[in-house]
Amino acid sequence: MIKRRNLLGAMVAAAVGSQALPLQVLAAADKAKPRSIPWRNWSGSQQCVPALRSAPATVAELQELIASASGTVRAVGAGHSFTPLVPTDGTIVSLSRLSGLVNHDPKSMQATLWAGSRLGDIGQPLETAGQALINMPDIDEQTLAGCLATATHGTGTNIGCMPTFVEGLQLVDARGDLVDCDANNNPELFQAAKVSLGVLGVVTQVRLQNVAPYRLRRETVWREFDEILEIADGMADKHRNFEFYYIPFSGMGFTDTHDLTDEPLGSTEKIDSNDSVEDLKLARDWLEGWPRLRELILSSVIKTLSDEVTVESSWKNYISERNVRFNEMEYHLPREHGLQAMREIRTVLETQHPEVFFPIEVRYIKGDDIWLSPFHQRDTCSIAVHRYFEDDYKPYFKSIEPIFRKYNGRPHWGKLNTLRRDDFRKLYPRWDDFIEVRRAIDPGGRFLNPYLAGLFG
Ligand SMILES: Cc1cc2nc3c(=O)[nH]c(=O)nc-3n(C[C@H](O)[C@H](O)[C@H](O)COP(=O)(O)OP(=O)(O)OC[C@H]3O[C@@H](n4cnc5c(N)ncnc54)[C@H](O)[C@@H]3O)c2cc1C
Repeated sequence: MIKRRNLLGAMVAAAVGSQALPLQVLAAADKAKPRSIPWRNWSGSQQCVPALRSAPATVAELQELIASASGTVRAVGAGHSFTPLVPTDGTIVSLSRLSGLVNHDPKSMQATLWAGSRLGDIGQPLETAGQALINMPDIDEQTLAGCLATATHGTGTNIGCMPTFVEGLQLVDARGDLVDCDANNNPELFQAAKVSLGVLGVVTQVRLQNVAPYRLRRETVWREFDEILEIADGMADKHRNFEFYYIPFSGMGFTDTHDLTDEPLGSTEKIDSNDSVEDLKLARDWLEGWPRLRELILSSVIKTLSDEVTVESSWKNYISERNVRFNEMEYHLPREHGLQAMREIRTVLETQHPEVFFPIEVRYIKGDDIWLSPFHQRDTCSIAVHRYFEDDYKPYFKSIEPIFRKYNGRPHWGKLNTLRRDDFRKLYPRWDDFIEVRRAIDPGGRFLNPYLAGLFG
């Protein structure tokens, strides 16, 4: 069998001659021993030294913490957002100890979960209870509350972002009071709280509409990028979940589909995606000054790769490993502009940014009616660009963002962008309604750090 790394190395050598960041320090302070511990997000792009980090063990402890805290209070999930949503010199509160399944109802197929649950920890308990999440993002490290706060999404033209699965939730407000909301009880708060960036309070429990456990067949196929652009819209409509990637300076990409199946569990040999990113970095390091040669070599190597098929339980089969750290910008565009934007991004990338090697990811998401959802009232094509965590992402993102903005894109709330309050206000028809609800529930702005005060204060 051909070893890709060896093949690439040999081809580069013939043509010419990470240390992972330490993991984010996890929330450790408990009520008895408050400690000031520096905080940083997954990519290292955001950091702060809060006066206090706390992980309450009960809702009562959380209520007391919020009622008595001086200064700003920010909730943190798994720290996987790239935007400055969490940093504060006040209190950072983690719900890592409020995790797991609370109860479930087999009739309605709904389940209530603690908001601090990591997605990766709820697949099995839900399956045991006879339920499964309708869809998932491409990793399962995030917390449920974190996913709702930023409108985290998977892919699928007929499937909304994760907050569209929410039927009810409970939060602790700025006074420390516990508030329940759903479509009938506090409906305005419910609309606002489904996607709230954590500015309305600390969400403790979430009731989700689920479905019966299901099995997915995932198929990854390497293709010429021009072919992908031809077939992408049709594939998006045909498959339950569809996304594609472009590999910069290669002319190649791959399509990734998920469909319901009864086939037996199993998998072809899988490519290690972290190895693949390291290979692309190697090609960049050696061939940055020779774009044509880089494309020739990368496309030759990619054409030797096999397609992959995996049949697995849904919650295991959405997930990819993302061990090579990066910074990311993702915009959600009206679906009809997605492919044209992608063409323009490729041109800008390959004429102006030879330093870039991270693949570009393109997904499809169904529109919804949630006030601060980036998918509000429009079916969407989302495009994500990435830069290696040690590299300066600003020049590349600065070149690409105008393309996203030209097509009226709305940025992912958790991913880097330069928009300000007035920009968001133009993009979100229910912006002022959200501001009203926020003002009513937290008039003192206790959940606003400087970035969020700039948006909502
Ligand atoms: C490797 C990687 C892969 C990713 N893949 C995807 C993807 O496939 N799709 C996608 O859409 N996004 C993706 N993201 C982005 C990620 O899903 C979001 O940024 C998500 O919000 C991160 O969740 P978290 O638990 O880390 O929350 P954090 O980043 O810690 O916090 C995010 C927000 O949630 C708020 N929050 C957290 N807990 C609570 C609470 N209990 N109550 C109220 N507010 C709370 C915080 O205050 C903050 O505003 C990815 C990010 C990374 C790093």
